[in-house]
Amino acid sequence: MTTRIALIAHDHKKDAIVELAGEYVDTLRRCDIVATGTTGARIADAHGLTVERMLSGPHGGDLQIGSQLAEGHVDMVIFLRDPMTPQPHEPDINALVRACDVHNVPCATNISTARMILDVLTLRLAEKV
Ligand code: PGA
Repeated sequence: MTTRIALIAHDHKKDAIVELAGEYVDTLRRCDIVATGTTGARIADAHGLTVERMLSGPHGGDLQIGSQLAEGHVDMVIFLRDPMTPQPHEPDINALVRACDVHNVPCATNISTARMILDVLTLRLAEKV
């Protein structure tokens, strides 16, 4: 079954997630990608990846992804949060991260962990070739 990965980044982390997606573009091309609105648009434009875009995070996109995750439709989450800037949708952010913990879904909230997750995913996909 195709891995379904959620990609989300706060505004100050958007360049970082676009760069990360570029590094792992071959891996991501073999996944189903779901993302919040602006993050998804940036990644699709930059790398030509197909991205299922939800609402923007502050408008409920995190909750939409959390809902899919709770129903078993998201396998891993990369959520580059900005720890230095207060977010209006903090409760939604916490709800998504909590849902990852409730359902034991891998969730990377910084680049180092994101790379580890994507490295493992890359190896797993290589075994399937
Ligand atoms: P965005 O949402 O990708 O639409 O900017 C992310 C967020 O800020 O939670």
